[in-house]
Amino acid sequence: MIEQLKALVELQGVDTRLDELDRLQGDLPDEIADLEDTIAQLETRLERCRTENVQAEVERRQLELDIKTAEELIQRYEQQQLHVRNSREYDALSKEIEEQKQRIIDARTRIEELTGRTLRNMEIIEEAEQKLQELRLQLEAKRRELEAVLAETEQEYAFLQGQRELALQRVEPRLRQAYERIRRGVRNGRAIVPVRRGACDGCYNAVPPQRQLEIRQHNRIVICEHCGRILIDEAFYEEHARNLIRAQ
Ligand SMILES: [Zn+2]
Repeated sequence: MIEQLKALVELQGVDTRLDELDRLQGDLPDEIADLEDTIAQLETRLERCRTENVQAEVERRQLELDIKTAEELIQRYEQQQLHVRNSREYDALSKEIEEQKQRIIDARTRIEELTGRTLRNMEIIEEAEQKLQELRLQLEAKRRELEAVLAETEQEYAFLQGQRELALQRVEPRLRQAYERIRRGVRNGRAIVPVRRGACDGCYNAVPPQRQLEIRQHNRIVICEHCGRILIDEAFYEEHARNLIRAQ
């Protein structure tokens, strides 16, 4: 049992150091993810505005052509009016002319609408492009920061991962599962804690003297009745917690 306890303490030592390395990254991973999201949203918005403007330009050109056609028709009808044989023919042509004039008015109204929307889109695009440029610079800076942290800790991280594997192999499966379960359940990732000055070092609740005695005997696993962490004699803990880390 004492070998199991030793392996557990060593494993906890490695995991505590790994947790410290993770904390060095701070909020950087989250901040980077947030920036990437914001940038993607802005890019989508920009793309939509640009597409809308291209479509508006196509429609505007078609409307210009329509206006030209209508103007030509009006000219032709007016010419024909000079050579009509009766007022019925004249009126029929007048009606055609009115229709073409209305077509021109409608087209111009629509062109104004399109122009207005295009101008608004251009403002949005300009603003978004500026914002995007800022955000991309921020993202780049954060990524460089994170890379620096990772580069600094990469070697130690790999070493510790190896040590973790070795320690895990020495712990019997039942205890390994208990260890991982307790670790997931506690806030600071410490499943194995020493008893310091008569208290659990995980939740700081007092450990009864009888239990402290059992803990010092090292022949069974003693769980803190308040937080569920595995309790270890302080001297034993201090002796072994850094075994695998020191080996580096
Ligand atoms: Zn406790």
